[in-house]
Amino acid sequence: MTDPRDVVAAKRDGRKLDPGELRAFVLAFASGELADYLAAAFLMAAFINGLDAEETLALTRAMVDSGQTLPLDGITRPTVDKHSTGGVADGVTLVFTPISASLGLAVAKLSGRGLGHTGGTLDKLESIPGLRTDLDPESFERQVEQVGSAVAAQTDDIVPADGALYALRDATATVPSIPLIAASVMSKKLAIGTDLVLLDVKAGSGAFMKTPEDAAELAEACAALAKDWGRPMRAAVTDMSQPLGEAIGNALDIVEAVRLLRGELHGRLRDAAVVFAGEAVSRLLGVPMGEGRARAAAALDSGEALEAFRRMIQAQGGDPRVVDEPEQVLPSAPVRRPIMAERAGTLAAVDAEGLGRASGDLGAGRKKKGDPIDPSVGIVFLPKIGDRIVAGQQLGRVHARSDGDAEACIRAVHAAMTIGEEPVEPPPLVYGWHG
Ligand code: URA
Repeated sequence: MTDPRDVVAAKRDGRKLDPGELRAFVLAFASGELADYLAAAFLMAAFINGLDAEETLALTRAMVDSGQTLPLDGITRPTVDKHSTGGVADGVTLVFTPISASLGLAVAKLSGRGLGHTGGTLDKLESIPGLRTDLDPESFERQVEQVGSAVAAQTDDIVPADGALYALRDATATVPSIPLIAASVMSKKLAIGTDLVLLDVKAGSGAFMKTPEDAAELAEACAALAKDWGRPMRAAVTDMSQPLGEAIGNALDIVEAVRLLRGELHGRLRDAAVVFAGEAVSRLLGVPMGEGRARAAAALDSGEALEAFRRMIQAQGGDPRVVDEPEQVLPSAPVRRPIMAERAGTLAAVDAEGLGRASGDLGAGRKKKGDPIDPSVGIVFLPKIGDRIVAGQQLGRVHARSDGDAEACIRAVHAAMTIGEEPVEPPPLVYGWHG
Protein backbone atom coordinates (compact mmCIF):
# COMPACT_ATOMS: atom_id res chain seq x y z
CA MET A 1 0.00 0.00 0.00
CA THR A 2 1.09 3.59 -0.64
CA ASP A 3 2.31 5.40 2.46
CA PRO A 4 -1.01 6.38 4.13
CA ARG A 5 0.37 9.86 4.75
CA ASP A 6 0.42 10.36 0.97
CA VAL A 7 -3.33 9.65 0.82
CA VAL A 8 -3.93 12.19 3.60
CA ALA A 9 -1.62 14.71 1.91
CA ALA A 10 -3.33 14.28 -1.48
CA LYS A 11 -6.73 15.04 0.01
CA ARG A 12 -5.30 17.82 2.15
CA ASP A 13 -4.03 19.45 -1.05
CA GLY A 14 -7.37 18.99 -2.81
CA ARG A 15 -6.18 16.32 -5.27
CA LYS A 16 -8.46 13.58 -6.54
CA LEU A 17 -7.65 10.23 -4.93
CA ASP A 18 -6.99 7.10 -6.90
CA PRO A 19 -9.89 4.70 -6.10
CA GLY A 20 -7.43 1.87 -5.39
CA GLU A 21 -5.42 3.96 -2.90
CA LEU A 22 -8.54 5.18 -1.15
CA ARG A 23 -9.78 1.61 -0.88
CA ALA A 24 -6.48 0.34 0.54
CA PHE A 25 -6.46 3.17 3.10
CA VAL A 26 -10.00 2.41 4.31
CA LEU A 27 -9.46 -1.34 4.46
CA ALA A 28 -6.19 -0.89 6.37
CA PHE A 29 -7.94 1.40 8.87
CA ALA A 30 -10.84 -1.05 9.29
CA SER A 31 -8.47 -3.91 10.01
CA GLY A 32 -6.65 -1.92 12.69
CA GLU A 33 -3.44 -1.40 10.73
CA LEU A 34 -3.79 2.39 10.62
CA ALA A 35 -3.86 4.64 13.66
CA ASP A 36 -6.93 6.76 14.43
CA TYR A 37 -4.91 9.95 13.89
CA LEU A 38 -4.30 9.13 10.24
CA ALA A 39 -7.97 8.36 9.63
CA ALA A 40 -8.97 11.51 11.55
CA ALA A 41 -6.64 13.62 9.40
CA PHE A 42 -8.07 12.01 6.25
CA LEU A 43 -11.64 12.67 7.40
CA MET A 44 -10.89 16.33 8.05
CA ALA A 45 -9.21 16.68 4.65
CA ALA A 46 -12.20 15.00 2.96
CA PHE A 47 -14.57 17.17 4.99
CA ILE A 48 -12.86 20.36 3.84
CA ASN A 49 -11.99 19.47 0.24
CA GLY A 50 -14.85 17.08 -0.51
CA LEU A 51 -14.95 13.81 -2.42
CA ASP A 52 -16.28 13.60 -5.96
CA ALA A 53 -18.77 10.95 -7.11
CA GLU A 54 -16.03 8.45 -8.06
CA GLU A 55 -14.21 8.88 -4.73
CA THR A 56 -17.49 8.59 -2.80
CA LEU A 57 -18.25 5.37 -4.67
CA ALA A 58 -14.75 3.99 -3.93
CA LEU A 59 -15.11 4.90 -0.24
CA THR A 60 -18.55 3.27 -0.06
CA ARG A 61 -17.36 0.11 -1.83
CA ALA A 62 -14.39 -0.19 0.51
CA MET A 63 -16.66 0.25 3.53
CA VAL A 64 -19.03 -2.47 2.29
CA ASP A 65 -16.09 -4.75 1.48
CA SER A 66 -14.54 -4.23 4.94
CA GLY A 67 -16.93 -6.91 6.21
CA GLN A 68 -19.35 -9.52 5.00
CA THR A 69 -22.61 -8.79 3.24
CA LEU A 70 -26.03 -10.24 3.94
CA PRO A 71 -27.98 -10.99 0.76
CA LEU A 72 -31.03 -12.06 2.84
CA ASP A 73 -31.71 -14.92 0.42
CA GLY A 74 -33.53 -16.93 3.07
CA ILE A 75 -36.18 -14.29 3.82
CA THR A 76 -39.59 -15.20 2.48
CA ARG A 77 -41.31 -11.80 2.87
CA PRO A 78 -40.54 -8.60 0.92
CA THR A 79 -37.69 -6.85 2.75
CA VAL A 80 -37.16 -3.18 3.49
CA ASP A 81 -34.56 -1.05 5.26
CA LYS A 82 -35.11 2.52 6.38
CA HIS A 83 -32.50 5.00 7.58
CA SER A 84 -32.44 8.58 8.77
CA THR A 85 -29.50 10.92 8.23
CA GLY A 86 -29.97 12.04 11.82
CA GLY A 87 -32.25 14.37 13.69
CA VAL A 88 -33.64 15.44 17.05
CA ALA A 89 -36.61 13.56 18.57
CA ASP A 90 -36.43 11.42 15.45
CA GLY A 91 -38.07 8.17 16.52
CA VAL A 92 -39.39 7.26 13.06
CA THR A 93 -37.52 3.94 12.91
CA LEU A 94 -38.96 2.84 16.27
CA VAL A 95 -42.48 3.23 14.86
CA PHE A 96 -41.93 2.45 11.17
CA THR A 97 -40.29 -0.91 11.92
CA PRO A 98 -43.15 -2.56 13.85
CA ILE A 99 -45.79 -1.05 11.55
CA SER A 100 -44.08 -2.58 8.53
CA ALA A 101 -43.50 -5.93 10.25
CA SER A 102 -47.17 -6.08 11.23
CA LEU A 103 -48.19 -5.49 7.59
CA GLY A 104 -46.33 -8.49 6.18
CA LEU A 105 -42.97 -6.90 5.38
CA ALA A 106 -39.62 -7.83 6.88
CA VAL A 107 -37.47 -4.96 8.19
CA ALA A 108 -33.74 -5.65 8.27
CA LYS A 109 -31.92 -2.66 9.64
CA LEU A 110 -28.38 -1.86 10.68
CA SER A 111 -28.60 1.23 12.78
CA GLY A 112 -26.29 3.82 14.30
CA ARG A 113 -25.62 5.37 17.67
CA GLY A 114 -26.16 9.02 18.51
CA LEU A 115 -23.92 11.20 16.40
CA GLY A 116 -23.12 14.79 17.37
CA HIS A 117 -26.32 16.43 18.60
CA THR A 118 -28.56 13.75 17.00
CA GLY A 119 -30.03 10.74 18.73
CA GLY A 120 -29.34 7.15 17.70
CA THR A 121 -31.85 4.33 17.40
CA LEU A 122 -29.44 1.84 18.98
CA ASP A 123 -28.94 4.00 22.07
CA LYS A 124 -32.69 4.40 22.41
CA LEU A 125 -33.36 0.66 22.05
CA GLU A 126 -30.56 -0.24 24.47
CA SER A 127 -32.33 1.73 27.20
CA ILE A 128 -34.72 -1.28 27.35
CA PRO A 129 -33.29 -3.60 30.02
CA GLY A 130 -31.65 -6.69 28.52
CA LEU A 131 -31.98 -5.61 24.88
CA ARG A 132 -29.00 -6.47 22.70
CA THR A 133 -28.12 -4.90 19.38
CA ASP A 134 -24.87 -6.82 18.74
CA LEU A 135 -26.51 -9.53 16.66
CA ASP A 136 -24.23 -11.74 14.59
CA PRO A 137 -25.23 -12.00 10.91
CA GLU A 138 -26.88 -15.43 11.30
CA SER A 139 -28.99 -14.39 14.31
CA PHE A 140 -29.89 -11.15 12.55
CA GLU A 141 -31.18 -12.94 9.46
CA ARG A 142 -32.95 -15.64 11.50
CA GLN A 143 -34.74 -12.98 13.55
CA VAL A 144 -35.79 -11.05 10.43
CA GLU A 145 -37.38 -14.22 9.03
CA GLN A 146 -39.01 -15.38 12.27
CA VAL A 147 -40.12 -12.07 13.79
CA GLY A 148 -40.34 -9.77 10.77
CA SER A 149 -37.83 -7.22 12.05
CA ALA A 150 -34.39 -6.77 13.54
CA VAL A 151 -32.47 -3.59 14.36
CA ALA A 152 -28.81 -4.22 15.00
CA ALA A 153 -25.46 -2.45 15.22
CA GLN A 154 -22.70 -2.71 12.69
CA THR A 155 -20.44 -5.37 14.11
CA ASP A 156 -16.96 -6.54 13.27
CA ASP A 157 -18.70 -8.68 10.66
CA ILE A 158 -20.76 -6.14 8.72
CA VAL A 159 -19.42 -2.75 7.57
CA PRO A 160 -16.79 -2.55 10.34
CA ALA A 161 -15.19 0.40 8.52
CA ASP A 162 -18.32 2.48 9.09
CA GLY A 163 -18.41 1.58 12.77
CA ALA A 164 -14.86 2.83 13.19
CA LEU A 165 -15.16 5.91 10.96
CA TYR A 166 -18.55 6.91 12.40
CA ALA A 167 -17.20 7.01 15.96
CA LEU A 168 -14.14 8.96 14.82
CA ARG A 169 -16.24 11.49 12.88
CA ASP A 170 -18.41 12.07 15.92
CA ALA A 171 -15.28 12.82 17.95
CA THR A 172 -13.57 15.05 15.36
CA ALA A 173 -16.34 17.40 14.13
CA THR A 174 -16.35 15.79 10.67
CA VAL A 175 -19.95 14.63 10.51
CA PRO A 176 -21.83 17.18 8.31
CA SER A 177 -20.23 16.31 4.98
CA ILE A 178 -22.39 15.15 2.06
CA PRO A 179 -19.96 12.49 0.71
CA LEU A 180 -19.05 11.18 4.19
CA ILE A 181 -22.70 10.89 5.24
CA ALA A 182 -23.69 9.34 1.89
CA ALA A 183 -20.93 6.72 2.13
CA SER A 184 -21.70 5.98 5.78
CA VAL A 185 -25.45 5.63 5.31
CA MET A 186 -25.31 3.77 2.03
CA SER A 187 -22.54 1.34 3.05
CA LYS A 188 -24.88 0.06 5.77
CA LYS A 189 -27.81 -0.15 3.34
CA LEU A 190 -25.89 -1.79 0.50
CA ALA A 191 -24.34 -4.45 2.73
CA ILE A 192 -27.82 -5.80 3.46
CA GLY A 193 -29.70 -7.00 0.39
CA THR A 194 -33.20 -5.67 1.07
CA ASP A 195 -35.73 -5.30 -1.76
CA LEU A 196 -36.17 -1.60 -0.95
CA VAL A 197 -34.14 1.07 0.85
CA LEU A 198 -35.97 4.10 2.24
CA LEU A 199 -33.94 7.12 3.30
CA ASP A 200 -35.15 9.96 5.47
CA VAL A 201 -32.85 12.86 4.64
CA LYS A 202 -33.37 15.53 7.26
CA ALA A 203 -33.23 19.27 6.55
CA GLY A 204 -33.26 22.10 9.08
CA SER A 205 -31.85 23.36 12.36
CA GLY A 206 -31.69 19.90 13.93
CA ALA A 207 -30.17 18.16 10.91
CA PHE A 208 -26.63 17.98 9.58
CA MET A 209 -27.97 19.54 6.36
CA LYS A 210 -29.42 22.87 7.36
CA THR A 211 -31.35 23.59 4.15
CA PRO A 212 -33.70 21.50 1.98
CA GLU A 213 -31.35 22.24 -0.96
CA ASP A 214 -28.31 20.67 0.78
CA ALA A 215 -30.48 17.77 1.92
CA ALA A 216 -31.64 17.25 -1.67
CA GLU A 217 -27.98 17.12 -2.74
CA LEU A 218 -27.31 14.45 -0.09
CA ALA A 219 -30.41 12.52 -1.22
CA GLU A 220 -29.13 12.61 -4.81
CA ALA A 221 -25.64 11.44 -3.73
CA CYS A 222 -27.25 8.47 -1.93
CA ALA A 223 -29.53 7.76 -4.90
CA ALA A 224 -26.49 7.72 -7.22
CA LEU A 225 -24.80 5.10 -5.01
CA ALA A 226 -27.97 2.96 -4.92
CA LYS A 227 -28.28 3.21 -8.71
CA ASP A 228 -24.68 2.11 -9.17
CA TRP A 229 -25.45 -0.99 -7.10
CA GLY A 230 -28.74 -1.58 -8.93
CA ARG A 231 -30.72 -1.31 -5.69
CA PRO A 232 -34.23 0.21 -5.49
CA MET A 233 -34.18 3.24 -3.23
CA ARG A 234 -36.46 6.15 -2.41
CA ALA A 235 -35.24 9.13 -0.40
CA ALA A 236 -37.50 11.77 1.14
CA VAL A 237 -36.19 15.14 2.25
CA THR A 238 -38.11 15.83 5.45
CA ASP A 239 -38.33 18.73 7.86
CA MET A 240 -36.02 18.91 10.87
CA SER A 241 -36.44 22.60 11.69
CA GLN A 242 -37.85 21.50 15.05
CA PRO A 243 -37.83 18.24 17.04
CA LEU A 244 -39.98 15.77 15.11
CA GLY A 245 -41.53 14.10 18.15
CA GLU A 246 -41.63 15.17 21.79
CA ALA A 247 -38.85 13.16 23.43
CA ILE A 248 -35.16 14.10 23.13
CA GLY A 249 -33.29 11.43 25.03
CA ASN A 250 -33.25 7.65 24.98
CA ALA A 251 -35.66 5.93 27.40
CA LEU A 252 -38.01 8.90 26.94
CA ASP A 253 -38.13 8.17 23.20
CA ILE A 254 -39.12 4.57 23.90
CA VAL A 255 -41.99 5.78 26.11
CA GLU A 256 -43.13 8.05 23.26
CA ALA A 257 -42.80 5.25 20.69
CA VAL A 258 -44.95 2.94 22.84
CA ARG A 259 -47.63 5.63 23.12
CA LEU A 260 -47.57 6.06 19.33
CA LEU A 261 -47.74 2.30 18.81
CA ARG A 262 -50.77 2.17 21.08
CA GLY A 263 -52.42 4.74 18.82
CA GLU A 264 -52.60 7.19 21.75
CA LEU A 265 -50.45 9.94 20.30
CA HIS A 266 -50.89 11.90 17.06
CA GLY A 267 -48.69 14.50 15.40
CA ARG A 268 -45.69 14.86 13.10
CA LEU A 269 -43.78 11.79 14.31
CA ARG A 270 -46.77 9.52 13.71
CA ASP A 271 -47.38 11.18 10.34
CA ALA A 272 -43.75 10.63 9.28
CA ALA A 273 -43.82 6.95 10.31
CA VAL A 274 -47.07 6.47 8.37
CA VAL A 275 -45.58 8.19 5.27
CA PHE A 276 -42.53 5.87 5.26
CA ALA A 277 -44.47 2.71 6.10
CA GLY A 278 -47.05 3.68 3.44
CA GLU A 279 -44.25 4.03 0.88
CA ALA A 280 -42.84 0.60 1.82
CA VAL A 281 -46.24 -1.12 1.71
CA SER A 282 -47.19 0.53 -1.55
CA ARG A 283 -43.89 -0.27 -3.31
CA LEU A 284 -43.45 -3.80 -1.98
CA LEU A 285 -47.05 -5.04 -1.88
CA GLY A 286 -48.14 -3.18 -5.01
CA VAL A 287 -51.02 -1.24 -3.49
CA PRO A 288 -51.82 2.45 -4.17
CA MET A 289 -50.04 4.93 -1.88
CA GLY A 290 -53.27 6.02 -0.17
CA GLU A 291 -54.05 2.40 0.67
CA GLY A 292 -50.48 1.86 1.97
CA ARG A 293 -50.79 4.82 4.33
CA ALA A 294 -54.27 3.77 5.46
CA ARG A 295 -52.94 0.29 6.33
CA ALA A 296 -50.04 1.85 8.25
CA ALA A 297 -52.36 4.09 10.28
CA ALA A 298 -54.69 1.17 10.96
CA ALA A 299 -51.77 -0.93 12.27
CA LEU A 300 -51.13 1.77 14.88
CA ASP A 301 -54.77 2.10 15.87
CA SER A 302 -55.45 -1.65 16.07
CA GLY A 303 -52.47 -2.49 18.31
CA GLU A 304 -50.96 -4.81 15.63
CA ALA A 305 -47.85 -2.65 15.39
CA LEU A 306 -47.46 -2.65 19.18
CA GLU A 307 -47.48 -6.47 19.19
CA ALA A 308 -44.85 -6.50 16.41
CA PHE A 309 -42.70 -4.22 18.58
CA ARG A 310 -43.12 -6.57 21.55
CA ARG A 311 -41.95 -9.52 19.40
CA MET A 312 -38.84 -7.66 18.25
CA ILE A 313 -37.92 -6.51 21.78
CA GLN A 314 -38.33 -10.05 23.10
CA ALA A 315 -36.30 -11.57 20.26
CA GLN A 316 -33.41 -9.19 21.04
CA GLY A 317 -33.45 -10.11 24.74
CA GLY A 318 -35.27 -6.99 25.95
CA ASP A 319 -37.94 -6.93 28.63
CA PRO A 320 -41.20 -7.20 26.62
CA ARG A 321 -43.21 -5.63 29.46
CA VAL A 322 -41.86 -2.32 28.16
CA VAL A 323 -44.85 -2.18 25.79
CA ASP A 324 -47.30 -2.52 28.71
CA GLU A 325 -45.66 -0.42 31.42
CA PRO A 326 -42.80 1.52 29.83
CA GLU A 327 -42.31 3.86 32.77
CA GLN A 328 -41.97 0.92 35.21
CA VAL A 329 -39.50 -0.99 33.08
CA LEU A 330 -37.26 1.79 31.75
CA PRO A 331 -34.62 3.64 33.78
CA SER A 332 -35.84 6.97 35.16
CA ALA A 333 -33.91 10.09 36.14
CA PRO A 334 -33.94 11.29 39.77
CA VAL A 335 -34.80 14.93 38.96
CA ARG A 336 -37.83 16.00 36.90
CA ARG A 337 -38.56 19.66 36.30
CA PRO A 338 -41.33 21.31 34.27
CA ILE A 339 -40.37 23.84 31.59
CA MET A 340 -42.71 26.82 31.83
CA ALA A 341 -43.26 29.48 29.15
CA GLU A 342 -41.77 32.83 30.18
CA ARG A 343 -43.77 34.89 27.69
CA ALA A 344 -46.75 34.69 25.36
CA GLY A 345 -46.59 34.64 21.58
CA THR A 346 -46.24 32.30 18.59
CA LEU A 347 -43.44 29.76 18.40
CA ALA A 348 -41.66 31.09 15.30
CA ALA A 349 -38.45 29.01 15.22
CA VAL A 350 -36.61 26.34 17.18
CA ASP A 351 -32.89 25.70 17.37
CA ALA A 352 -33.34 21.94 17.32
CA GLU A 353 -29.58 21.38 17.33
CA GLY A 354 -29.43 23.46 20.54
CA LEU A 355 -32.08 21.19 22.09
CA GLY A 356 -30.13 18.11 20.97
CA ARG A 357 -26.98 19.51 22.56
CA ALA A 358 -28.84 20.41 25.76
CA SER A 359 -30.05 16.82 26.00
CA GLY A 360 -26.49 15.62 25.30
CA ASP A 361 -25.22 17.84 28.14
CA LEU A 362 -27.66 16.11 30.51
CA GLY A 363 -25.87 12.86 29.62
CA ALA A 364 -28.09 11.54 26.81
CA GLY A 365 -25.29 11.86 24.22
CA ARG A 366 -21.53 11.37 23.96
CA LYS A 367 -18.82 13.99 24.15
CA LYS A 368 -16.18 11.62 22.87
CA LYS A 369 -15.86 8.24 21.25
CA GLY A 370 -16.93 5.38 23.52
CA ASP A 371 -18.40 7.58 26.30
CA PRO A 372 -21.24 5.88 28.17
CA ILE A 373 -24.62 7.57 27.92
CA ASP A 374 -27.30 7.91 30.58
CA PRO A 375 -30.48 6.39 29.09
CA SER A 376 -32.76 7.99 31.69
CA VAL A 377 -32.11 11.68 31.05
CA GLY A 378 -33.47 14.00 28.38
CA ILE A 379 -36.04 16.60 27.47
CA VAL A 380 -39.72 16.39 26.60
CA PHE A 381 -40.45 19.39 24.37
CA LEU A 382 -44.10 19.79 23.39
CA PRO A 383 -44.72 22.93 21.28
CA LYS A 384 -44.43 22.99 17.50
CA ILE A 385 -43.67 25.89 15.18
CA GLY A 386 -46.82 27.97 14.65
CA ASP A 387 -48.32 27.09 18.08
CA ARG A 388 -49.70 29.91 20.22
CA ILE A 389 -48.04 29.96 23.63
CA VAL A 390 -49.51 31.44 26.81
CA ALA A 391 -47.19 32.80 29.52
CA GLY A 392 -46.89 30.27 32.35
CA GLN A 393 -47.97 27.33 30.15
CA GLN A 394 -46.03 24.08 30.60
CA LEU A 395 -43.87 23.52 27.51
CA GLY A 396 -42.37 20.22 28.56
CA ARG A 397 -40.12 18.58 31.14
CA VAL A 398 -36.47 18.03 31.85
CA HIS A 399 -35.30 14.66 33.21
CA ALA A 400 -31.89 15.16 34.81
CA ARG A 401 -29.35 13.70 37.21
CA SER A 402 -29.12 16.85 39.37
CA ASP A 403 -30.89 20.14 40.06
CA GLY A 404 -27.96 22.01 38.52
CA ASP A 405 -28.17 20.02 35.30
CA ALA A 406 -31.94 20.58 35.12
CA GLU A 407 -31.61 24.34 35.62
CA ALA A 408 -28.89 24.64 32.95
CA CYS A 409 -31.02 22.62 30.57
CA ILE A 410 -34.14 24.73 31.15
CA ARG A 411 -32.09 27.84 30.30
CA ALA A 412 -30.86 26.15 27.12
CA VAL A 413 -34.42 25.21 26.11
CA HIS A 414 -35.57 28.82 26.48
CA ALA A 415 -32.56 30.01 24.46
CA ALA A 416 -33.48 27.56 21.68
CA MET A 417 -36.96 29.05 21.16
CA THR A 418 -37.85 32.14 19.12
CA ILE A 419 -41.22 33.47 20.17
CA GLY A 420 -42.77 36.18 18.01
CA GLU A 421 -46.00 38.11 17.74
CA GLU A 422 -47.06 37.24 14.19
CA PRO A 423 -48.78 33.99 13.14
CA VAL A 424 -46.34 31.49 11.59
CA GLU A 425 -47.09 28.71 9.07
CA PRO A 426 -45.87 25.29 10.25
CA PRO A 427 -43.18 23.88 7.94
CA PRO A 428 -44.12 21.02 5.60
CA LEU A 429 -43.36 17.48 6.80
CA VAL A 430 -41.92 16.28 3.46
CA TYR A 431 -40.12 18.60 1.01
CA GLY A 432 -39.86 16.05 -1.79
CA TRP A 433 -38.82 12.58 -2.91
CA HIS A 434 -35.68 11.48 -4.79
CA GLY A 435 -34.59 8.25 -6.44
N1 URA B 1 -26.26 8.40 9.78
C1 URA B 1 -25.28 7.56 9.39
O1 URA B 1 -25.46 6.34 9.36
N2 URA B 1 -24.11 8.07 9.02
C2 URA B 1 -23.88 9.39 9.03
O2 URA B 1 -22.80 9.79 8.66
C3 URA B 1 -24.89 10.28 9.44
C4 URA B 1 -26.08 9.75 9.82
